[in-house]
Amino acid sequence: MGALTKRIEHWIRPSVRTLRAYHVADAGNMIKLDAMENPNIWPGELEQAWLQALGAVQINRYPDARAQELKDALRTYMDIPASLDIMLGNGSDELIQLLQLAVGGPGRKVLAPTPSFVMYEMIAAAVGMEFVAVSLRDSFDLDAHAMCVAIEEHQPALVFIAWPNNPTGNLFDTQALEAVIEASPGLVVIDEAYQPFSKKTWMSRLDQYDNLLVMRTLSKMGMAGLRLGVLAGKRAWLQEFEKIRLPYNINSLTQTGAAFVLEHQGLIGGQIEQICVERQRVIEALQAIAGVKVYPSHTNFILFRVENADTVFMRLKQSGILVKNLNGVSAALDSCLRVTIGLCKENDAFLSALVQAA
Ligand code: PMP
Repeated sequence: MGALTKRIEHWIRPSVRTLRAYHVADAGNMIKLDAMENPNIWPGELEQAWLQALGAVQINRYPDARAQELKDALRTYMDIPASLDIMLGNGSDELIQLLQLAVGGPGRKVLAPTPSFVMYEMIAAAVGMEFVAVSLRDSFDLDAHAMCVAIEEHQPALVFIAWPNNPTGNLFDTQALEAVIEASPGLVVIDEAYQPFSKKTWMSRLDQYDNLLVMRTLSKMGMAGLRLGVLAGKRAWLQEFEKIRLPYNINSLTQTGAAFVLEHQGLIGGQIEQICVERQRVIEALQAIAGVKVYPSHTNFILFRVENADTVFMRLKQSGILVKNLNGVSAALDSCLRVTIGLCKENDAFLSALVQAA
C-alpha cells in the first residue's frame, strides 16, 4: 500500500470511505429526462429583464446574510404563515445536511421510509448518524404501523417523509402521516419538493404540531440551477438551526434571480399546469404499452416497471434519451425506471423509443 493511500485510510472516517459519491449521469446531447427538472425556458423579453436584474448585483459585496427580500417573496408565494420562521439552504440537500448536523451525535438516529430520497441516508452516513429504513408496502403506501413500531424502538431524532415521495411518485395517506408525527419524539420533516405538482401541503398545519417542519425547493419548478431550498417551522427550532447555517450560503445571484422569478407567478404556474397535463398524457400512453406497469404520480416524474430495466434503459440511451434506472437500487424497485416529464416533443420521443425498447 502506498504512503498516500495509508494516510487517506488513516484520516478519512471509515463511514465516509465506504460511501459512494452521489452519481450524476452525463446527459451529453441526450434528451434529459432523469432529474426532475422543468424543461421550459422563458420568453426572450423576460429573460432579458432577468439578466438586467442580475447585472445590477454587486458581486464584490457579500450577499445579504439574512436574504430578507427573497424570504419575503417566498412567504407570499408559498403561503408561509407569519407566525413561522423561514430558513434557506443551498438547495434542500443542504437543509437536510444542516438538520442532521444540528441533531446528530453519538447514538442519534435518522428514520425514513424506503424506497425514498437517497440523500436522507447518504447524509446520515456522512454526519455519523445511524439510518433506520422502514419499508413501504408493496403498493408503495406508507406502513403506518411499521413506522410507529420503528419510531418507538429507535427513538429517532429526525424522521424524513418525502410527500409526494421520490422515486415512487405517490402521496402517503394523511392519517398515516399524522400517526407518524404523533408517535415521533423528535422532529418530523415533510419534504414537499414536488408540492407544485401535487398542490397538497402541510404548511398550514405547522402551527398544530411542536415537532413538524416543512421543506420545499425551487428546483422542480424551474430553478434547479439556482440551488434554493426552503425550510418553514416554529421560530424556536429555526433559531437553533440558524446557529450552524453558514452565513452566506445563499449567493447574491440566487437571491436576486429567485426573487425576480417569484414575481412572475403566472409564468411558473402556467409551466406547472402544462407539466401536469403532459404527465396525464404520458401516463395514459405508458399504460397502453404491453409489458409496462405504471405507478400513479403526483409529481413531475413517473415510475414504471418493465420486464428488463437494464436493457430498456440502454436502448433508450442508444435512442438519445436519458431516464433514471432504479433497477438494483432496492428490491422494491426491481426493474423500475423513472422518467421526468419533459417538453411535449421530448415526451413523444421518449414514448416512441420506449415502444421499440420495451
Ligand atoms: N427532496 C426530494 C424528495 C428530492 O427528490 C430532491 C431532489 N431530487 C431534493 C429534496 C433535493 O432538491 P434540491 O437540493 O435541488 O433542492
